Amino acid sequence: MTATTVGGLVPRMREICGAANVITDPLELRTYECDGLTSHRSVPALVVLPGAADEVAAVVAECARAGVPFVARGSGTGLSGGALPTQDGVLIVMTRMRKILEIDPVSRRAVVEPGVTNLSVSKAAAPFGLFYAPDPSSQVICSVGGNVAENSGGAHCLKNGFTVHHVTGLEIVTPAGELTWLGDGTGVTTGYDLVGAFTGSEGTLGIVTKIVVKLMPIPETVHTLLAAYSTTSDGGRAVSDIIGAGILPAAIEMMDALSIEAAEAAVRCNYPEGAGAVLIVELDGPTSEVETELATVRAIAEAAGATEIRAADDPAERAVIWAGRKSAFAAVGRISPAFIVQDGVVPRTSLGAVLAKIATMSEQSGIRVANVFHAGDGNLHPLVLYDDASPEQTTAAEELSGAILDTCLEHGGSITGEHGVGVDKSRYMPRMFSADDLDTMQLVRCAFDPASLCNPGKVFPTPRLCGEVPGHRREPHPAVAAGLAEIF
Ligand SMILES: Cc1cc2nc3c(=O)[nH]c(=O)nc-3n(C[C@H](O)[C@H](O)[C@H](O)COP(=O)(O)OP(=O)(O)OC[C@H]3O[C@@H](n4cnc5c(N)ncnc54)[C@H](O)[C@@H]3O)c2cc1C
Repeated sequence: MTATTVGGLVPRMREICGAANVITDPLELRTYECDGLTSHRSVPALVVLPGAADEVAAVVAECARAGVPFVARGSGTGLSGGALPTQDGVLIVMTRMRKILEIDPVSRRAVVEPGVTNLSVSKAAAPFGLFYAPDPSSQVICSVGGNVAENSGGAHCLKNGFTVHHVTGLEIVTPAGELTWLGDGTGVTTGYDLVGAFTGSEGTLGIVTKIVVKLMPIPETVHTLLAAYSTTSDGGRAVSDIIGAGILPAAIEMMDALSIEAAEAAVRCNYPEGAGAVLIVELDGPTSEVETELATVRAIAEAAGATEIRAADDPAERAVIWAGRKSAFAAVGRISPAFIVQDGVVPRTSLGAVLAKIATMSEQSGIRVANVFHAGDGNLHPLVLYDDASPEQTTAAEELSGAILDTCLEHGGSITGEHGVGVDKSRYMPRMFSADDLDTMQLVRCAFDPASLCNPGKVFPTPRLCGEVPGHRREPHPAVAAGLAEIF
C-alpha cells in the first residue's frame, strides 16, 4: 500500500469528519509520530479526528474498502508503542469524542465516549458518591478508550481489579467498518465473553466508540501509611506479611533509593532521609474496618524493620505521600538524560530474588536501575537509566531491559503487567508463548480482522495468519490441520 493510495482517501475523509479534522500537513503529521515510548517513531500518511461513532465507522469502512491500514490513538500516553502509526496508513485520533453520555447512580454505571480522560469519569461520578476504580498514574490525561485497549491497571488495582473488571459493554467499530455492541452493559455474559476478549487487545480487534463502566461507592474512610526501610527486602517482607495476615489493602507500592532520590528532586515529596526503600500502603473501606486493619499493618511494618512510619487520613496529607510515587516515572528525567520504563510481573514471593538479580545485572552492566513497583501484585517498573548520547550505553540499557524481562519469565512471571506488548515487546512474545500459542491468538485476531488492517505489526512478533505476510507459515497451523479453524 502506498501513500498515494492513502492520499486518494483525503476528499472522502474530509466529507466524513470535516476538513478541519483531517490532517495532511507533513509538520502537523509529525505530532503523531510516537506515543509515550519515544524510541519508536513513524509518521502517519494521514490523521483523522472523527467526532462521533458513525464517523469512525465511515472512516474505517473507507480504509477497509481501499485496503489501507489504520491505527486508533487515544491520548498517546501508551508506553509500548501501541498507537505507533503505520507510514502508509491512517491514524484515527479519538480525542474529539470526549462526552460523558450518562451517569446512572442507581445502577452505578457510566456510559462514556472513548476520548474521555480516566480521571474525569470519577470527577463526574463524585457528586453521586461514586468513582471509577481503575487508576493508571497517567489518569489525568489517558483516555478510557486507551485504558480498554491496554486493560490498564494502577496503584489501586490490587483490591479493585483492572479495567477488564469494570467494563460491562463496548460499542465498537469492527475492522470492516460496522458499528456493533459487545456485552449488554449488565456485566452478565451469556456465550463468549467478547468484552473480555476485546479489553486488552491493544487496538487490534477494532475501535471502541462507547464504553459502559461500573462505578463504585467512594469509600467511607481512606488511610495512607508510609513506612521507610533500609532495604527493599525489608519492605518486601512487610508486603508478604500484610497479605499473609489476610489484609487486602487498596494499594501497596514500593520505591527504592534511586527512585526516591529522583522523586525528591522533582516534587520535594519529603520522604524520610536516607531511606533505602519506601512502602506506601493504602487502606480503604468502612471506618471501623480500616482502623482495625491500620493497627495491624502498622505493627507488621514495624516488625519488618521500618525505620520511620507516617500515617495520613487527611486528603491533602495523603496527596503529599502519593506525590512522590505518582511522579516517579517523569522524575527520573531529573537524574538521567534518558530512561526505559520497563513493565514486568513476578509472583509476589519472588520479588526479593528478582530485585536482587536486577541489582546484580545493573552493577555488571554499569547501567543504573531505579525500581518503582506495585508490590502488592508483583508488577515491577524498573526504570533503566542511560545516556542516549552514548550508543554503547543505549545498547547496554536495551540489553539490560530485555534481561530483566527474562528474569521475570524465569520466575514464572510475565513480560508485561499493564503497559501492553505493542510494538516494543512483540519480540519478547516467543520467550513467553510457543509458536502454537501465538498462532492460536492470531486466530482470534483473524476472526475480527481477516484483512489484518487494524493496528498491524503490534503484539505479534511474526505475522503468520490472515494475510499480514501471506504464505509465511510453512507448516499448516495445528488447529487448521485438525479442521478446527480456517485461514481466510
Ligand atoms: C507517566 C505515565 C504513567 C503511566 N501509568 C500507568 C499505570 O499506572 N497503569 C497503566 O496501566 N498504564 C500506565 N501508563 C500507560 C498508559 O497511560 C496507558 O496504557 C493508557 O491506558 C493509554 O491510554 P491512551 O489514551 O494514552 O492510549 P494510546 O497511547 O493513545 O493508545 C494505547 C493503545 O490503545 C489503542 N487505542 C486507543 N484508543 C482506542 C480506541 N478508542 N479503540 C481501540 N483501541 C484504542 C491504541 O491503538 C494503542 O494500541 C502510564 C503512562 C505514562 C506516560
